[in-house]
Amino acid sequence: MAEVLVYVDHVDGAVRKPTLELLTLARRVGEPVAVHLGPNAEGAAKTLGEYGAVRVLAADAPEFADYLVAPKVDALQAACESVRPAAVLVPSSAEGKEIAARLAIRAGSGIITDAVDLEAGDEGPVATQSVFAAAYTTKSRVTKGTPVITVKPNSAAPEAAPAAGAVEALAVSFSDGATGTRVTARTPRESTGRPELTEAAIVVSGGRGLNGAENFPLIEALADSLGAAVGASRAAVDAGWYPHSHQVGQTGKSVSPQLYIAAGISGAIQHRAGMQTSKTIVAINKDAEAPIFDLVDYGVVGDLFEVVPQLTEEVEARKG
Ligand SMILES: Cc1cc2nc3c(=O)[nH]c(=O)nc-3n(C[C@H](O)[C@H](O)[C@H](O)COP(=O)(O)OP(=O)(O)OC[C@H]3O[C@@H](n4cnc5c(N)ncnc54)[C@H](O)[C@@H]3O)c2cc1C
Repeated sequence: MAEVLVYVDHVDGAVRKPTLELLTLARRVGEPVAVHLGPNAEGAAKTLGEYGAVRVLAADAPEFADYLVAPKVDALQAACESVRPAAVLVPSSAEGKEIAARLAIRAGSGIITDAVDLEAGDEGPVATQSVFAAAYTTKSRVTKGTPVITVKPNSAAPEAAPAAGAVEALAVSFSDGATGTRVTARTPRESTGRPELTEAAIVVSGGRGLNGAENFPLIEALADSLGAAVGASRAAVDAGWYPHSHQVGQTGKSVSPQLYIAAGISGAIQHRAGMQTSKTIVAINKDAEAPIFDLVDYGVVGDLFEVVPQLTEEVEARKG
């Protein structure tokens, strides 16, 4: 069976959920081989093996942390040349997409970004994308070289499928360009204790209907009751009510959670572009004609200042 390379997204060896989703999707196409760059490959291999990695190709060097993406591209290219995989899967983060694009150019391969599903096809893996503000779903396959595919977080539920996960050293020699851009400082983001917006299984977003920054704690309280991330429309962000890093939409982040709750958001096309692939969509809006109701699974026509606190209370009560 052909092997499929999966680029591992991790923090010091703690494998992040999107990688487990990639391993799950990779098994539809071939045997997953994980590429782990940086420290603690042995620790990561336990998780990677549990989710189906037959092998873990590991390399650690200061270059991975000290410079921007080029050293990682060198390593992934080395893995690609040694394995000759049926496909290379990379998480669709900003960094992942840059790594994937550079790899595809070097390898002379076609690339598909932001896939939301993946299946085996007679002539190679077929990726599903949601395009034109999610108005269309397309299926595509790479016709040239080794398919390089980036997959959005939450595209598949991670399924365990124990495999050997044997760690093997990956030999990497860095190119001249690898050390062209050095990282000069790192400041960790202040933790809110909430999940990362693009990876969260549940997102609760607030819009202009909130009427001011002072009312966003209503959204935060509902989010916290559900273990969700907080999002915002551009109108709320532009008004300075919530940080731009939380903006969902065409010029913000693209999210695809299991559940998306929009409160006081009208559902403009640019907002929909960033959330329409969510599995279940719930909207709370006092205007029954608001366009958001065209795409919801459940809609509440009502005042968010009444509905949201009641919802939070009910969720808390049911948690017992
Ligand atoms: C190039 C470009 C890029 C853009 N990118 C983005 C983007 O990335 N993300 C994004 O979100 N927007 C984006 N926009 C802006 C977008 O067009 C909308 O202006 C924006 O999404 C509107 O935000 P909103 O829904 O919060 O506000 P509004 O459209 O003003 O809607 C507010 C809603 O709240 C409801 N409401 C008011 N009070 C209450 C209440 N008490 N209870 C319940 N409901 C209430 C109203 O009925 C209304 O439907 C972009 C626009 C352009 C031109």
